[in-house]
Amino acid sequence: MLSFPPFATLKPDTTLHALDTVLAENQAQLDALLKQRNPSWETLITPLEAMSETISRSWGPVSHLFGVWSTPEWRAAYNAALPKVTEYGVELSQNQALFRAYEQLAASSAFADFSGSRKKVVRDALRDFKLSGIALPEAEKARFKSISLRLSELQAKFEENVMDAVQAYAHPITDAAELVGMTASALQAAGEKALAKALDGWLLTLDFPSYDAVITRCRNRALRERLYTAYATRASDQGPHDASHDNTALMSEILALRHEQALLLGFASFAELSLATKMAESPAAVETFLLQLAARARPRALGELAELKALAAADGIDDLQPWDMAYYSEQLREKTLGLSDEALRPYFPYPQVLQGLFDLVHSLFGIRIEPLPGIETWHPDVSVYALKDVDGHNTGAFYLDPYSRPETKRGGAWMDECAGRRRLADGIQLPVAYLVCNFTPPAASQPALLTHDEVTTLFHEFGHGLHHLLTQVDESALAGIRGVEWDAVELPSQFMENWCYEPATLKLFARHWQTGEAMPDAMIEQLRLDRQFQTGLATLRQVEFSLFDLRLHRDFDLSRGTAVLDTLDTVRRQVAVMHPPAFNRMPWSFGHIFAGGYAAGYYSYKWAEVLSSDAFAAFEESGFKPETGIQFRDSILAAGGSRPAMESFIEFRQRKPEVDALLRHSGLNGSPSDGIQPPS
Ligand SMILES: [Zn+2]
Repeated sequence: MLSFPPFATLKPDTTLHALDTVLAENQAQLDALLKQRNPSWETLITPLEAMSETISRSWGPVSHLFGVWSTPEWRAAYNAALPKVTEYGVELSQNQALFRAYEQLAASSAFADFSGSRKKVVRDALRDFKLSGIALPEAEKARFKSISLRLSELQAKFEENVMDAVQAYAHPITDAAELVGMTASALQAAGEKALAKALDGWLLTLDFPSYDAVITRCRNRALRERLYTAYATRASDQGPHDASHDNTALMSEILALRHEQALLLGFASFAELSLATKMAESPAAVETFLLQLAARARPRALGELAELKALAAADGIDDLQPWDMAYYSEQLREKTLGLSDEALRPYFPYPQVLQGLFDLVHSLFGIRIEPLPGIETWHPDVSVYALKDVDGHNTGAFYLDPYSRPETKRGGAWMDECAGRRRLADGIQLPVAYLVCNFTPPAASQPALLTHDEVTTLFHEFGHGLHHLLTQVDESALAGIRGVEWDAVELPSQFMENWCYEPATLKLFARHWQTGEAMPDAMIEQLRLDRQFQTGLATLRQVEFSLFDLRLHRDFDLSRGTAVLDTLDTVRRQVAVMHPPAFNRMPWSFGHIFAGGYAAGYYSYKWAEVLSSDAFAAFEESGFKPETGIQFRDSILAAGGSRPAMESFIEFRQRKPEVDALLRHSGLNGSPSDGIQPPS
């Protein structure tokens, strides 16, 4: 059965009130639940699932509307509810009696007869309890908790320092000749910044769009160097910054505390702790994977660097520096590709792209997508669609909210769950998804025309949506993307992106909105070349960051100090082809690993690309046979988090993932370099 929130009649105050009631009822129900002596699946997990469902029914729409219909009233409701929902979640994850109930269930005689997915529900829960420190002896538990609190403070402060350092810097320009090469829109933005400070001319700052506009476009080399120096030393002891935002001490403390937490939980390093919830087996396996990628990318990266050097030399620059790379790279792209968004847009009218996507999903997975009229939404632009299986039965539904609304809608694109699949006493609750994008709305006389990036975004989010919607798992905790390892969750989304470069698929829906003419072959070829533009250098850069992150967290040794620069130097000597100057302090603003959730996990970006490219290659190898689509649906999408991602992948591919397809798709399939050796 399908059910939807009553968006037309939802009111912030009544929704908040309902949430309060649900939270109180759940608390009482939990207390009663934990008094039982011999918990079973039916007396423990089933009621817990129902409780989490009632929360998501009242909280889900509030949190969703906060993103897509953020009126002052809904924003206030969200802010009022967030602390309560967070506290409820923290209490559940720290509840000793609940932890013991799961342990009892795992030790019960019934457990042996549980299905694989039910066993995984219980084991995943126990694993997460243990990783939260709940099973430690009292004194260690207290220490673990105080470290967690301190870490969240330090990580927030790290990010704050980066933002403050960015904000504290500004470089005024009064002579237009200094800015030659920059785009009109970048100049306008810089002019407005000067105006806001009552200055003449232009103000250059370190927020990314402003920095990027200079470093990729500005002909003035000295100015590029100045901005690069400021940018590469953000929140550090170097460059034009005063010491007040220096992250040095925070980084040392963050690394030491993470290491201590890992030891308390019985791991050898924080890298091992991080991988405990991921698909990659071990830090050693990740390192091997990264070095393999580097070896394969290096020959091409050297060629690309030589190309940039030649272009710079023709321009009178004999010593290509890091602040010249983006500039000559942009020059090269324009010279060799010349593919502009504006030339592509007329071939991608939104309704036609969407129909093409639906047709593709039908041919791949046997699923028909049809409009579902009469469902309440939060805005007239939003459509609702049903997924139907071969027999015409509904198997799920989704909302699609395509256009930007700067006043009330968060930027970006995402997939979120509205309802998850769940087996109930009287049938199956079917999954429902929210798909949200931010395309430019249609003008009066023409449909919305998308850039190729936007088409790719739509396919990407749709991939997440399919993962959520095509699940066949009955256990709510593992249905769809729930319970999928963090480094495997982008597999279906990135997999779908590949179709946006496939000539046969592009021919399906890339047609000029006025003339109906299919996208010319030469243009499709250019799109494919653009995808491979300077992938050698880009890959090495990602490997450099990933390897640095991994080793920093794997090899931490208090007696050696934090060794941030040493670790980075070793990595660069091993894999980089371009060496930044000694003052470069990239790690000091590396928020992904010091402030965010990517610590000892930055490799996930490349890892997921390997999985998605290798999965797509199965279609290329089979000549796009329909059976391959059905196998992908059944082995990967339908299985969700019900088993380890590696098992699902092996079932689909009949072997472990290999990097070759990613290398080929990125144009890196030359012979590997033998210049890269494991560290001694
Ligand atoms: Zn994604």
